[in-house]
Amino acid sequence: MGELFIVGIGSGKSNSLTGEARAALAAAQLICGYTVYVEQAAEMFPGKAVYATPMMRELERCHYALAEAQKGKSIAMVCSGDAGVYGMAAPVLELLPQYPGVTVRVVAGVTAALSGAALLGAPLGHDFCVISLSDLLTPWETIEKRLRCAAEGDFAIALYNPSSKRRSAHLRKACDVLLETRRGETVCGIVRNAGRDGESARLLTLAELRDTEVDMLTTVFIGSSQTKDIGGRMVTPRGYGL
Ligand code: SAH
Repeated sequence: MGELFIVGIGSGKSNSLTGEARAALAAAQLICGYTVYVEQAAEMFPGKAVYATPMMRELERCHYALAEAQKGKSIAMVCSGDAGVYGMAAPVLELLPQYPGVTVRVVAGVTAALSGAALLGAPLGHDFCVISLSDLLTPWETIEKRLRCAAEGDFAIALYNPSSKRRSAHLRKACDVLLETRRGETVCGIVRNAGRDGESARLLTLAELRDTEVDMLTTVFIGSSQTKDIGGRMVTPRGYGL
Protein backbone atom coordinates (compact mmCIF):
# COMPACT_ATOMS: atom_id res chain seq x y z
CA MET A 1 0.00 0.00 0.00
CA GLY A 2 1.17 3.50 -0.75
CA GLU A 3 1.51 6.46 1.48
CA LEU A 4 -0.08 9.89 1.20
CA PHE A 5 1.83 12.81 2.68
CA ILE A 6 -0.18 15.99 3.14
CA VAL A 7 2.49 18.63 3.03
CA GLY A 8 2.35 22.29 4.08
CA ILE A 9 4.89 24.09 1.89
CA GLY A 10 4.91 27.44 3.72
CA SER A 11 5.00 30.49 1.48
CA GLY A 12 6.04 28.46 -1.56
CA LYS A 13 9.66 29.63 -1.71
CA SER A 14 12.20 26.86 -1.14
CA ASN A 15 13.64 28.55 1.97
CA SER A 16 10.28 28.33 3.76
CA LEU A 17 10.03 24.52 3.42
CA THR A 18 10.66 22.57 6.61
CA GLY A 19 13.21 19.75 6.39
CA GLU A 20 10.42 17.23 6.86
CA ALA A 21 8.37 18.74 4.01
CA ARG A 22 11.43 18.72 1.75
CA ALA A 23 12.03 15.02 2.51
CA ALA A 24 8.37 14.11 1.83
CA LEU A 25 8.39 15.94 -1.52
CA ALA A 26 11.71 14.40 -2.49
CA ALA A 27 10.37 10.89 -1.74
CA ALA A 28 7.02 11.33 -3.51
CA GLN A 29 6.39 9.75 -6.91
CA LEU A 30 3.51 12.14 -7.61
CA ILE A 31 2.84 15.68 -6.37
CA CYS A 32 -0.79 16.80 -6.42
CA GLY A 33 -2.79 19.81 -5.25
CA TYR A 34 -4.11 23.21 -6.28
CA THR A 35 -2.43 24.38 -9.50
CA VAL A 36 -0.43 27.27 -7.97
CA TYR A 37 1.07 25.17 -5.17
CA VAL A 38 1.82 22.23 -7.46
CA GLU A 39 3.71 24.62 -9.75
CA GLN A 40 5.72 25.94 -6.79
CA ALA A 41 6.56 22.43 -5.59
CA ALA A 42 7.40 21.24 -9.12
CA GLU A 43 9.84 24.14 -9.48
CA MET A 44 11.68 22.93 -6.37
CA PHE A 45 11.53 19.26 -7.43
CA PRO A 46 11.67 19.23 -11.23
CA GLY A 47 10.89 16.07 -13.11
CA LYS A 48 8.24 14.73 -10.71
CA ALA A 49 4.87 13.59 -11.99
CA VAL A 50 2.21 16.17 -11.07
CA TYR A 51 -1.59 16.32 -10.89
CA ALA A 52 -3.04 19.80 -10.50
CA THR A 53 -6.67 20.79 -10.11
CA PRO A 54 -8.11 24.32 -10.01
CA MET A 55 -9.73 25.96 -7.00
CA MET A 56 -13.12 24.56 -5.87
CA ARG A 57 -12.23 21.02 -6.95
CA GLU A 58 -10.78 20.11 -3.57
CA LEU A 59 -12.71 16.91 -2.86
CA GLU A 60 -11.99 15.51 -6.31
CA ARG A 61 -8.31 16.12 -5.57
CA CYS A 62 -8.54 14.28 -2.21
CA HIS A 63 -10.26 11.26 -3.78
CA TYR A 64 -7.68 11.15 -6.56
CA ALA A 65 -4.73 11.29 -4.13
CA LEU A 66 -6.21 8.60 -1.87
CA ALA A 67 -7.01 6.34 -4.84
CA GLU A 68 -3.47 6.70 -6.24
CA ALA A 69 -2.01 5.91 -2.81
CA GLN A 70 -4.24 2.83 -2.64
CA LYS A 71 -2.65 1.65 -5.90
CA GLY A 72 0.69 1.62 -4.06
CA LYS A 73 2.18 4.97 -5.00
CA SER A 74 3.87 7.45 -2.72
CA ILE A 75 1.94 10.71 -3.09
CA ALA A 76 2.50 14.22 -1.74
CA MET A 77 -0.52 16.51 -1.62
CA VAL A 78 0.70 20.09 -1.24
CA CYS A 79 -1.01 23.00 0.52
CA SER A 80 0.23 26.51 1.20
CA GLY A 81 1.32 27.34 4.73
CA ASP A 82 0.26 24.44 6.96
CA ALA A 83 -1.90 21.66 5.52
CA GLY A 84 -4.00 21.43 8.69
CA VAL A 85 -4.90 25.15 8.79
CA TYR A 86 -7.74 25.74 6.30
CA GLY A 87 -5.98 23.10 4.19
CA MET A 88 -6.56 19.61 2.89
CA ALA A 89 -5.45 17.55 5.90
CA ALA A 90 -8.90 17.49 7.52
CA PRO A 91 -10.95 16.45 4.44
CA VAL A 92 -8.37 13.79 3.49
CA LEU A 93 -8.56 12.28 6.99
CA GLU A 94 -12.38 12.44 6.86
CA LEU A 95 -12.32 10.48 3.56
CA LEU A 96 -9.57 8.06 4.62
CA PRO A 97 -11.95 5.37 6.02
CA GLN A 98 -13.19 4.91 2.43
CA TYR A 99 -9.65 3.87 1.40
CA PRO A 100 -8.60 0.98 3.66
CA GLY A 101 -4.90 0.27 3.82
CA VAL A 102 -3.72 3.77 2.88
CA THR A 103 -1.39 5.49 5.34
CA VAL A 104 -1.70 9.27 5.63
CA ARG A 105 0.96 11.45 7.21
CA VAL A 106 0.46 15.15 7.84
CA VAL A 107 3.63 17.22 7.50
CA ALA A 108 3.50 20.59 9.29
CA GLY A 109 4.31 23.82 7.46
CA VAL A 110 4.71 27.45 8.45
CA THR A 111 1.20 28.89 8.42
CA ALA A 112 0.50 32.48 7.29
CA ALA A 113 -0.28 33.60 10.85
CA LEU A 114 3.28 32.72 11.85
CA SER A 115 5.16 33.95 8.79
CA GLY A 116 3.09 37.14 8.85
CA ALA A 117 3.53 37.64 12.59
CA ALA A 118 7.29 37.41 12.24
CA LEU A 119 7.26 40.21 9.67
CA LEU A 120 5.20 42.47 11.95
CA GLY A 121 7.17 41.76 15.15
CA ALA A 122 5.50 39.63 17.82
CA PRO A 123 1.73 40.22 17.58
CA LEU A 124 0.95 36.68 18.79
CA GLY A 125 3.15 36.89 21.89
CA HIS A 126 0.25 35.91 24.15
CA ASP A 127 -3.05 34.03 23.69
CA PHE A 128 -4.49 34.37 20.21
CA CYS A 129 -7.27 33.14 17.92
CA VAL A 130 -7.29 32.37 14.21
CA ILE A 131 -10.54 33.13 12.39
CA SER A 132 -11.34 32.83 8.69
CA LEU A 133 -13.71 35.41 7.22
CA SER A 134 -14.67 33.09 4.36
CA ASP A 135 -18.35 32.21 4.49
CA LEU A 136 -18.11 29.68 1.65
CA LEU A 137 -18.25 26.76 4.10
CA THR A 138 -19.16 28.57 7.35
CA PRO A 139 -22.31 30.66 7.93
CA TRP A 140 -21.54 34.36 8.49
CA GLU A 141 -23.49 34.28 11.80
CA THR A 142 -20.98 31.72 13.14
CA ILE A 143 -18.05 33.87 12.03
CA GLU A 144 -19.55 36.93 13.74
CA LYS A 145 -20.11 34.97 16.92
CA ARG A 146 -16.49 33.79 16.97
CA LEU A 147 -15.25 37.33 16.36
CA ARG A 148 -17.39 38.62 19.21
CA CYS A 149 -16.19 35.88 21.59
CA ALA A 150 -12.54 36.44 20.61
CA ALA A 151 -12.93 40.17 21.20
CA GLU A 152 -14.61 39.55 24.54
CA GLY A 153 -11.80 37.19 25.57
CA ASP A 154 -9.26 39.90 24.63
CA PHE A 155 -7.36 37.55 22.32
CA ALA A 156 -5.04 38.83 19.62
CA ILE A 157 -6.61 37.64 16.36
CA ALA A 158 -5.23 36.54 13.01
CA LEU A 159 -7.85 36.85 10.26
CA TYR A 160 -7.46 34.55 7.24
CA ASN A 161 -9.41 34.97 3.99
CA PRO A 162 -10.17 38.60 4.91
CA SER A 163 -11.71 39.50 1.57
CA SER A 164 -12.46 38.44 -1.97
CA LYS A 165 -14.13 39.95 -5.02
CA ARG A 166 -17.42 38.43 -3.95
CA ARG A 167 -17.22 39.56 -0.33
CA SER A 168 -15.30 42.80 -0.23
CA ALA A 169 -17.29 44.11 2.77
CA HIS A 170 -16.36 41.26 5.11
CA LEU A 171 -13.37 42.93 6.74
CA ARG A 172 -15.38 46.08 7.42
CA LYS A 173 -18.20 44.02 8.94
CA ALA A 174 -15.68 42.11 11.08
CA CYS A 175 -14.09 45.35 12.30
CA ASP A 176 -17.52 46.69 13.24
CA VAL A 177 -18.09 43.61 15.42
CA LEU A 178 -14.68 44.02 17.06
CA LEU A 179 -15.24 47.75 17.59
CA GLU A 180 -18.22 46.88 19.80
CA THR A 181 -15.69 46.01 22.53
CA ARG A 182 -12.24 46.99 21.25
CA ARG A 183 -10.92 50.55 21.01
CA GLY A 184 -10.47 52.22 17.62
CA GLU A 185 -6.77 52.81 18.51
CA THR A 186 -6.14 49.05 18.92
CA VAL A 187 -2.87 48.22 17.15
CA CYS A 188 -3.44 46.11 14.02
CA GLY A 189 -1.27 44.84 11.18
CA ILE A 190 -1.66 43.76 7.57
CA VAL A 191 0.67 41.33 5.83
CA ARG A 192 0.41 40.62 2.12
CA ASN A 193 2.34 37.90 0.27
CA ALA A 194 4.45 36.87 3.27
CA GLY A 195 7.56 35.07 2.04
CA ARG A 196 6.62 35.67 -1.60
CA ASP A 197 7.53 38.23 -4.23
CA GLY A 198 5.90 41.57 -3.44
CA GLU A 199 5.86 40.90 0.32
CA SER A 200 4.55 43.82 2.40
CA ALA A 201 3.67 44.44 6.04
CA ARG A 202 2.35 47.50 7.83
CA LEU A 203 0.77 48.63 11.09
CA LEU A 204 -2.45 50.61 11.42
CA THR A 205 -5.23 51.16 13.96
CA LEU A 206 -8.46 49.17 14.10
CA ALA A 207 -10.37 52.31 13.08
CA GLU A 208 -8.11 52.69 10.03
CA LEU A 209 -8.34 48.98 9.23
CA ARG A 210 -12.13 49.26 9.02
CA ASP A 211 -11.76 51.54 5.99
CA THR A 212 -8.90 49.64 4.34
CA GLU A 213 -9.26 47.38 1.30
CA VAL A 214 -7.38 44.09 1.44
CA ASP A 215 -7.33 41.03 -0.79
CA MET A 216 -7.13 37.25 -0.45
CA LEU A 217 -3.33 37.29 -0.38
CA THR A 218 -3.44 39.10 2.95
CA THR A 219 -3.54 38.07 6.59
CA VAL A 220 -4.86 40.65 9.04
CA PHE A 221 -3.71 40.90 12.65
CA ILE A 222 -5.83 42.50 15.38
CA GLY A 223 -4.07 43.34 18.61
CA SER A 224 -5.41 42.62 22.08
CA SER A 225 -5.96 45.49 24.53
CA GLN A 226 -2.28 45.01 25.54
CA THR A 227 -0.73 45.08 22.06
CA LYS A 228 1.72 47.93 21.45
CA ASP A 229 3.40 49.66 18.52
CA ILE A 230 7.08 49.73 19.51
CA GLY A 231 8.91 51.74 16.87
CA GLY A 232 6.83 50.24 14.09
CA ARG A 233 6.83 46.65 15.42
CA MET A 234 3.55 45.12 16.60
CA VAL A 235 4.12 43.52 20.00
CA THR A 236 1.70 41.68 22.28
CA PRO A 237 3.55 41.49 25.62
CA ARG A 238 3.97 38.21 27.42
CA GLY A 239 3.41 39.97 30.72
CA TYR A 240 6.89 40.58 32.10
CA GLY A 241 5.89 44.19 32.79
CA LEU A 242 8.76 45.62 30.70
N1 SAH B 1 -3.13 26.66 4.70
C1 SAH B 1 -2.83 28.08 4.60
C2 SAH B 1 -4.08 28.94 4.70
C3 SAH B 1 -5.06 28.78 3.54
S1 SAH B 1 -6.43 29.90 3.65
C4 SAH B 1 -1.82 28.47 5.71
O1 SAH B 1 -1.62 27.68 6.64
O2 SAH B 1 -1.24 29.56 5.62
C5 SAH B 1 -5.87 31.20 2.58
C6 SAH B 1 -5.56 32.45 3.39
O3 SAH B 1 -4.31 32.31 4.04
C7 SAH B 1 -5.40 33.73 2.56
O4 SAH B 1 -6.65 34.33 2.25
C8 SAH B 1 -4.59 34.60 3.50
O5 SAH B 1 -5.42 35.16 4.52
C9 SAH B 1 -3.68 33.57 4.15
N2 SAH B 1 -2.37 33.49 3.47
C10 SAH B 1 -1.87 32.40 2.84
N3 SAH B 1 -0.63 32.66 2.36
C11 SAH B 1 -0.34 33.93 2.70
C12 SAH B 1 0.81 34.77 2.51
N4 SAH B 1 1.88 34.33 1.85
N5 SAH B 1 0.78 36.04 3.00
C13 SAH B 1 -0.31 36.49 3.67
N6 SAH B 1 -1.41 35.73 3.88
C14 SAH B 1 -1.44 34.48 3.41
